Amino acid sequence: MAIPPYKAPSRGSYDIVIVGGAAVGSSTAYWLSQALGETASILVVERDSSYEFSSTALSTSAIRQQYSNPINVKISQFGIEIIRDFPQLMAPFFKDEPAPDLGFKEHGYLYCCTPDGAEAAKARVELQRSLGAHTVFLEPGPLKDRFPWLNVEDLGGGAWGSRDEGWFDSMGLLNGFRRAARGSGVEYIDNAVVGLDLEGNRVVAVRLSTGETVSCGTLVNAAGPRAQQVAAMAGLSIPVEPRKRYSFVFASATPIPGRVPNVIDLTGTFVRPEGELFLTGNTPQKEIARDYEDFETDMDEFDDYIWPALYHRIPAFDALKVQQFWTGHYEYNTLDHNGIVGFHPGISNFMFANGFSGHGLQQSPAVGRAVSELIIHGAFQTLDLTPFRYERVPANEPFLEEAVI
Ligand SMILES: Cc1cc2nc3c(=O)[nH]c(=O)nc-3n(C[C@H](O)[C@H](O)[C@H](O)COP(=O)(O)OP(=O)(O)OC[C@H]3O[C@@H](n4cnc5c(N)ncnc54)[C@H](O)[C@@H]3O)c2cc1C
Repeated sequence: MAIPPYKAPSRGSYDIVIVGGAAVGSSTAYWLSQALGETASILVVERDSSYEFSSTALSTSAIRQQYSNPINVKISQFGIEIIRDFPQLMAPFFKDEPAPDLGFKEHGYLYCCTPDGAEAAKARVELQRSLGAHTVFLEPGPLKDRFPWLNVEDLGGGAWGSRDEGWFDSMGLLNGFRRAARGSGVEYIDNAVVGLDLEGNRVVAVRLSTGETVSCGTLVNAAGPRAQQVAAMAGLSIPVEPRKRYSFVFASATPIPGRVPNVIDLTGTFVRPEGELFLTGNTPQKEIARDYEDFETDMDEFDDYIWPALYHRIPAFDALKVQQFWTGHYEYNTLDHNGIVGFHPGISNFMFANGFSGHGLQQSPAVGRAVSELIIHGAFQTLDLTPFRYERVPANEPFLEEAVI
């Protein structure tokens, strides 16, 4: 892994230190800097600012309204707002260049369901619609009319989001937030946090791999799949572990006509267009915690599981050629597949922003804002993310999200 040379921080003490400067860390830095301006010193420590192995860079970068929890729907609605407004939001920080457009492809999601699952799917659609989402439930007949290339024989229908769902540029989002944060006085350094010093119920300092120690007022854990490593530095434990996800980009000999959504098959395999090509992935058969450095791709997963599922659901996928593939890590919360956002009740200045389990990119705008509100005001000011509080972990009270891909 080629990591840029590490840098020392410019000061010995910061009001806020953020560990991890990818989507969640940089969104947090952005919202804090916009609210606090020069009144607070903020340091972001990033162990690899090439972001090569970050979840953000390896993400398939989609956003949807199709969740089972109202708060997740609302978080994504805010995400959509930010994605649409990004060029205007970023314009002040890109004075001599065009502000980044995140290239949002509003193709929608199509969640297939079994005949047995149709009632639950309809209930989710109703919930999403009651919150302003544009999801509709299509019975097999109308589903086939709308998407003639889809095999609906074994389906009870599909939930289709025609608006406010699709995919976008993950690194554009990260780079925009990062640049805006830096332009507003946040300091970023290439370095790794290797330890935390505690006094009483507080983190008082952060130890860096280059030997420096910096004092901190508030510590934010935005370390993605490595979140547990950072938690452990404060003697804490969260049920977040790196889980592998394989992505494959393929060409299909037979084109699929029309505006193809992100199709979520009954097997959990998803597929969506990627320019002229298609992008697919699934949950690997071996769904276990992985080594932090293990990014190897198991090609059998495509041949043995993904391709048969694709061919069954979309028979036009009879001749495919894989062109590119990669492996990324989900920061997987084994308790309930939802984020953990908030201060630790015991170590009162330790903030979690972790465990988003495959939907953290679309949640990063709302999570960064929520974390900044907690730090500045001690309470949420906009969306109430209380259901994501850390306290549910030791209490073993899952806040389960059913719609996880
Ligand atoms: C294959 C795949 C597909 C996905 N698809 C989607 C999707 O469609 N939609 C969606 O919303 N989400 C998706 N996700 C999830 C999403 O990408 C993540 O939830 C999100 O990017 C998490 O951002 P983060 O900043 O928390 O973590 P990361 O992007 O992993 O960033 C954490 C950063 O912390 C740094 N770091 C870690 N430890 C330290 C340390 N000790 N010191 C300093 N720095 C440290 C790391 O170097 C890293 O850059 C997907 C993820 C994967 C892997």
